Amino acid sequence: APKALVAGNWKMNGLTSSVGEIEKLARLVAEKGAGCDVLICPPATLISNLSGKGIDIGGQDCHMAVSGAHTGDISAAMLKDLGCNYVIVGHSERRADHGETNDVVKAKALAAQDQGLTAIICVGETDAEREDGSTLDVVTSQVRGSIPETAMADNTVIAYEPVWAIGTGKTPTADDVADVHAVIRNLLMDRFGDAGEKVRIQYGGSVKASNAAELMSVPNVNGALVGGASLKAEDFYGIIATY
Ligand code: 13P
Repeated sequence: APKALVAGNWKMNGLTSSVGEIEKLARLVAEKGAGCDVLICPPATLISNLSGKGIDIGGQDCHMAVSGAHTGDISAAMLKDLGCNYVIVGHSERRADHGETNDVVKAKALAAQDQGLTAIICVGETDAEREDGSTLDVVTSQVRGSIPETAMADNTVIAYEPVWAIGTGKTPTADDVADVHAVIRNLLMDRFGDAGEKVRIQYGGSVKASNAAELMSVPNVNGALVGGASLKAEDFYGIIATY
């Protein structure tokens, strides 16, 4: 299996004072070790403050263009310029709050890869879609529609995040996670051959230290994308320590 990636998505949380949290996390990783890659994706305003502290830093979104008249947006080139090596694209909050379609997400992933960044491409069904039994269809069409042709193991990570599990304390059963991750793995292998076996597939949605061991041991789960439990270094390290 590929080396796992445990990534923290701070979302719209954290002020310049959170530099102490990254330093604490770097200390925990240095002292106790990490059997996985570790990444923090803070708000863009904090990237300069938090980079160079020994923890990989990524963006939470990027524009599909390199530069231009796009007020309020940030390009993958700008993230790269600040030392980022990853960017999340197509998070369900971006899809919902900003109307991002699979086509938009795919263009953003391509823009990220063009700059040498690894795109963490998010997919996942809503509660209503789960209730009506269309989870596998929704995830299949998102994977097909959001991943560019250029995807390789070193420039692409897929994050399966059921929308109903985000910030709710609810998680799918290990069997349900296994089913979805197997479908994603098969889609990747159909499309990219052996390279599809090496692409990491993260699980995200209410991951915390107390449920991480079970979720991270599910076949085809190669790490976690963590929201709330990534804000405090000790909590986040508890997830990292499962590897
Ligand atoms: P929570 O871990 O807070 O449920 O958030 C998950 C998420 O959306 C990470 O991108």
